[in-house]
Amino acid sequence: MKKINTLLIVSFFLINTLPLFSQQTTSQKAFASLFYNTQVNQYRSADGTPGESYWQNQANYKVQVALDTTTNIISGKVEIDYRNNSPVALPFVWLQLDQNISKPDSRAAASSYSESLLKTSKKGFHIKNVKILIENKWVDANYLISDTRMQIRLNTDLTAKKGQLKIAINYDYILGENDGRAAILSTKNGKIYEVSYFYPRMCVFDDIRGWDTKPFLGAGEFYLDYGTIDYSVTLPKGMLVMGSGSLLNPKETLNKQDLARLEIAKKSDKTVVIRTPKEVEKSVKKTKNKTLEQVTWHFKMENTRDVAWAASTAFVWDAAKINLPKGKTALAMSVYPVESVGDTAWSRATEYLKQSVESFSDKWFVYPYPVAINVGGRVGGMEFPGITFDYWKVTSKHLYGIIAHEIGHDWFPMIVGSNERRYAWMDEGFNTFMDIYTQAEFNHGEYAPKRDGEYAPKGGNPADEIIAVMTKPEIPVIMTAADNFKSEDTHPVSYFKTAFGLVLLREVIVDPQRFDYAFKNYVTNWAFKHPTPYDFFRAMENGTGEDLAWFWRGWFLNNWTLDQAVTDVQYINNDPKQGALIQLENKNKLVLPVLIRITESNGKINNIKLPVEIWERDSHFTLKLDSNSTIKTVELDPEHKLPDVDRSNNSWNN
Ligand SMILES: [Zn+2]
Repeated sequence: MKKINTLLIVSFFLINTLPLFSQQTTSQKAFASLFYNTQVNQYRSADGTPGESYWQNQANYKVQVALDTTTNIISGKVEIDYRNNSPVALPFVWLQLDQNISKPDSRAAASSYSESLLKTSKKGFHIKNVKILIENKWVDANYLISDTRMQIRLNTDLTAKKGQLKIAINYDYILGENDGRAAILSTKNGKIYEVSYFYPRMCVFDDIRGWDTKPFLGAGEFYLDYGTIDYSVTLPKGMLVMGSGSLLNPKETLNKQDLARLEIAKKSDKTVVIRTPKEVEKSVKKTKNKTLEQVTWHFKMENTRDVAWAASTAFVWDAAKINLPKGKTALAMSVYPVESVGDTAWSRATEYLKQSVESFSDKWFVYPYPVAINVGGRVGGMEFPGITFDYWKVTSKHLYGIIAHEIGHDWFPMIVGSNERRYAWMDEGFNTFMDIYTQAEFNHGEYAPKRDGEYAPKGGNPADEIIAVMTKPEIPVIMTAADNFKSEDTHPVSYFKTAFGLVLLREVIVDPQRFDYAFKNYVTNWAFKHPTPYDFFRAMENGTGEDLAWFWRGWFLNNWTLDQAVTDVQYINNDPKQGALIQLENKNKLVLPVLIRITESNGKINNIKLPVEIWERDSHFTLKLDSNSTIKTVELDPEHKLPDVDRSNNSWNN
């Protein structure tokens, strides 16, 4: 029996695999059919749009927390209203306890994501109790905690399609000095508290894998459902709190002067200072060494995955109107310490923020939230819906870049809710791509072109710089999950390679007109929903009218490299007057269109773009040119738009 089985397996292997793999030419591999390995269904359509039965669950939160400024303890309660819209009854639910990353025995600690994180933050969430609402009574929940996740087991399944579950959790945790996404900065007018991931949140249950419980290790960010988040923050009087969404009680928290100046800012294209450095210093002096009463700041944000906030006595505050399409407006605001004031520093932050939001809204999707806030503090650069934390010492071009990038995340992944933990490129890369065009336009090109740690870090031509990324041994492919990257590879691949790939697609492979239409439709169709990489690939193919399997395969799924070559030039019947035959070769696995410049001895210059289809049958191609004099030079990709790893074979000279 055993022997026969083995033989059967061997022959099966030979029949099925050999013709498919070993005899395939490079071209056949690049252009092979059946790129999509999963069938579409009623949830996700073949054209890359949400299917007719697309569903996602909803998570609404009511969070009430207090910040103790002497102990740095954040304590409070979250009430979650979770709606099961899925076709599956749920016997249990999973939550994310992100703060548990800093427990000494966390998986993040074991895999040592960040030394600084583990040194500075404390013990994770201290859960006091977990209750669920059953027949209008709060009862103790049956729960367990595993690393950064909590499972609540239900006595009765949460009904499919209409089930509603209410969960209440009392908790506290110690705010770390700097965990990368939250931090405390001491300034001369008081501490700046930047607070995020401050309440337990629901994991996503989706049609892809059910509960997505991939633990939080530090690098891979979030995947969250949408809902309304109503939250309040209680802390000592004298602090200014900036939070995601709308402030519901401005009259109880702001003074008359703040309110009056805010009204001016709402109508002003120029930045209006709401709290000047002098006013900040005066107010700090006035309250020094006094025990102050507590004030509660109440915020609400709709259609959001998350919220974050910052608080300080030290905030200088300014604002300006954001002009959105169709006469809509929003408010751009920046808060930062006196130390960050300056014409090359944070005094221009609101101008940068305003332009970024206006440009992204104009090009891709209208900013949906009432305010966009930019906080200067200790966090290096971190995005949340409607609010970003950017490093207080950054100035000029770098400040512009960081502000545009972090608020750009409001489009990816805050509006287009992809799974950051698994596909960092769908937020970092898409965002970097948008930033390239928005930065080019800022103040008539003041900071153009975008060249920084995210895009062509050496400041050169992106098509040339990306080659070092593509050819680095063992560099991960774009589709790699965030936590699988060595930290030095994250920016080159998730940001730079993805963004440059989209530039190639837009500028060389397709054209801006078709690309922009398809990309905009992708953003609109998946706004406030959960697309996968394949939904994106399908959407771009459908919108641009191209089968792009060869590009997704070469650029996103593999690290294939490009080497185009011109190998020979001959004349028809050896007579230059009858035309030239130019021999081209695609020497490596990646295929791309050919951009070719041919100069004839009579002075005529021919700029020709050959479609990628020339490589479908063979990696050799003969271009017939209707020339009538001898060819002086042939140059492939003369403007360096393509990442050609070997340029020594790109030209031919007579
Ligand atoms: Zn980013």
